[in-house]
Amino acid sequence: MIFYALFRRFLIFKIGRIPSDTSKETKIYPLPHTYVVKDIVPDLTQFYKQYKSIKPYLQRTTPSPNGKEYLQTKEERKKLDGLYECILCACCSTSCPSYWWNSEEYLGPAVLMQSYRWLADSRDEKTAERKSALDNSMSLYRCHTILNCSRTCPKGLNPGQAIAAIKKEMAFS
Ligand code: SF4
Ligand code: SF4
Repeated sequence: MIFYALFRRFLIFKIGRIPSDTSKETKIYPLPHTYVVKDIVPDLTQFYKQYKSIKPYLQRTTPSPNGKEYLQTKEERKKLDGLYECILCACCSTSCPSYWWNSEEYLGPAVLMQSYRWLADSRDEKTAERKSALDNSMSLYRCHTILNCSRTCPKGLNPGQAIAAIKKEMAFS
C-alpha cells in the first residue's frame, strides 16, 4: 500500500503541469511511455487508431422529424458537458499505468471518455452496438480506477468518472 501511494506521488510529480513560476528552469518532456518521433513529438498512431475504432460520430437511421436538426432537450444536451470539450491531447491516456501496460488492447481513458460521449448522446441510435464493442476483458475493464487520468487532464475533465459511468451502464444493461 505504501509503495502504491509513493508510486502515485511519483507519477503526479512526473506529469504535473508546467509551473507558472518563470524564475526557475522548466524541463519539458514528450508524453510519457510513447515512442518519440522527434524532440517532444510522440507517435500517436495507436491512439488515433483506437479513437477511430469507437466510431466517434453520430450514428442513427431514423430521420429527424422536421427533416433538419436532431433536436435534444436542455437536459439531454447537458449530459454531454464535461465530455465534448476533450481536445484529444492524450495526456490522460499516457499517464495511465493500465494503458502503459496494455495499450494494444485497452482503449485508455481518452478514447473511453469519447466512447461515453456517444453513449450519453440522446440522438445516437447505436448504444447497444457501442456497448457490445466494449464488452470484453480488455477494452474497458483494464481500468482499475487509479485516477491518474483525471488528475492529469489540462482541461479539468474527468475521464475516470466517464469510465465509471460506462461500467455502471454496462452492469445494468
Ligand atoms: S482511472 Fe482508469 S483510465 Fe484513469 S488512470 Fe486509472 S486505470 Fe487509467
Ligand atoms: S487529458 Fe483531457 S483533454 Fe486530453 S485527451 Fe484526456 S480527457 Fe481529453
